[in-house]
Amino acid sequence: MKHGSSSESAVPTVTGFSPGFVALGLEAPLLATLETLGYEEPTPIQREAIPPLLAGRDLLGQAATGTGKTAAFALPMLQRLSHAARVRPSALVLVPTRELAIQVGEAVQRYGKELQVSVLPVYGGQAIGPQLHALKRGVDVVVATPGRALDHIRRGTLKLQEVRIVVLDEADEMLDMGFAEDLDAILVGTPKTKQTALFSATIPPRIRAIAHRHLQNPIEITIAKEPVKAGTAPRVQQTAHIVARPYRAAALARVIEVAGANSALVFCRTRLEVDEVTAMLTGRGHRAEAIHGGMSQGQRDRVMQAFKAGQTELLVATDVAARGLDIPQVSHVINYDLPSSAEIYVHRIGRTGRAGREGAAITILDPREQRLLRSIEQHTKARVAVLPIPSVSDLRARQLDRVQAAVEQVLRDGPLDAFKRLVERLSAHPPEEVAAAALKLLVRAQGGERQEQEIPVRPPEFGRSIREARHSDGRGHSGSSGVGRPPAGRTRQDKRTAEMARLYIGVGREAGIRPGDLVGAIANEARINSNAIGTIEIEHRFSIVDVPASMASGIIEVLGRARIKGRRVPVRLFRE
Ligand code: AMP
Repeated sequence: MKHGSSSESAVPTVTGFSPGFVALGLEAPLLATLETLGYEEPTPIQREAIPPLLAGRDLLGQAATGTGKTAAFALPMLQRLSHAARVRPSALVLVPTRELAIQVGEAVQRYGKELQVSVLPVYGGQAIGPQLHALKRGVDVVVATPGRALDHIRRGTLKLQEVRIVVLDEADEMLDMGFAEDLDAILVGTPKTKQTALFSATIPPRIRAIAHRHLQNPIEITIAKEPVKAGTAPRVQQTAHIVARPYRAAALARVIEVAGANSALVFCRTRLEVDEVTAMLTGRGHRAEAIHGGMSQGQRDRVMQAFKAGQTELLVATDVAARGLDIPQVSHVINYDLPSSAEIYVHRIGRTGRAGREGAAITILDPREQRLLRSIEQHTKARVAVLPIPSVSDLRARQLDRVQAAVEQVLRDGPLDAFKRLVERLSAHPPEEVAAAALKLLVRAQGGERQEQEIPVRPPEFGRSIREARHSDGRGHSGSSGVGRPPAGRTRQDKRTAEMARLYIGVGREAGIRPGDLVGAIANEARINSNAIGTIEIEHRFSIVDVPASMASGIIEVLGRARIKGRRVPVRLFRE
């Protein structure tokens, strides 16, 4: 990590960077990185959290995935570490799952690129040897799941006596997974003088208790406390599709094509995404143009004129670029990802459905962002129906519908004499054959014969299942905010996700089993993503876990050979 540049010396070099980030006290190396990433301005949680964290305060932040909270703690952490004498590790980030350890590790690495920070994700299920080597060599930031962190602490391979900053990320999920004691055991061995930040999507009493034990005089931050004022949220038909990251671009193209969006605003978070999405849509034959803060005024004016004149059908924009624009009524607002706050969401969708006309807002979101979606629903007092992503056959059917409508229109408009003569020249073929061939050409010209892949439908949300499980376990708390009501459209989603199998696992509460033990065992032994695991019920002597039916036999086989909490347990399909 580079050291020594004082904050004063950085000031003259920060001009030209995003004023929003400059105002928070971030310095040139980080500002340059944010510029490269195409971030135009801080999200609300970043605006609130970065200054106190830079000043060294402890922090209790209520924020869900998707609000930009990783950068909210990583940016001040990186800046503070760059000014301090190097100790290794100097920061520890605790997260509930291996996926998150990898994801947060990558994000910290990305934000710390200019500062050459070394980051190591440490999680269970991964061979311990390489972790031992890396820890021995020394890393600046360790991003770990609590169980594996404790394992290393007990082996003496993770030493936290000199750690300066500790972050507890998604603390409520860590507690749901039964990590409360592990967290206490880890934090007890850290210096009293460290800075601690705790982020959680909800702040129930048990999170408060942890904060009380481990945070000193923390500043408390809650984003979107105030519901959006009645009447300010526009009446727009709102739907969402939950799609895993790798399929997001394909899903965007799919929803645009199925919706037949011909004057739509597509919102992205960053400039980079705006450029990528525009290139992808143009490549599929759409008339799409980008607009973002990195473009000159002249370029932006030209893009806006083309959109207003109807020459462009899709305007792909960042929030900042769209803010000052006089954008005409559009048929659709499409969120390439969920915006980081309810206010921005309302602002975005307010671009459609104006003046009593019909409007539609379609949002594509990552499975981990479902909590943020529910918080947006609460704040806007509007329902967002979660629907399965349209299938390839849905797309084909819509394309044919549109061709039919277009042909009917041409028939109504007439005259068709010149074309009738062409049909006569083709009289060697029956007229229906000729008509069908002409339609085929039309469909082909509209991209209707392009090879399309099915986009996988996600299984139910993992966090939700755990909560249901705790409930049926008799120890649960009654649904914490926002998780109680299933989203509209759930029934269709359920139908597709019904291909789950129920596994009987012969170990239960009596043996001290917690949902996290089962998730860990299944995810690690069977090498499947923990998101794929459904509801978990823990009974006295056994547990029942829903897993994708296609994976059931493989899971039964490997779990039957593995140990759960140190013992071999019977695993089979559950029969009522
Ligand atoms: P998180 O809530 O930390 O998981 O972040 C959600 C997403 O928002 C990530 O893909 C980030 O890259 C992105 N992001 C975070 N902060 C900003 C920002 N200020 N502007 C644009 N995108 C951001």
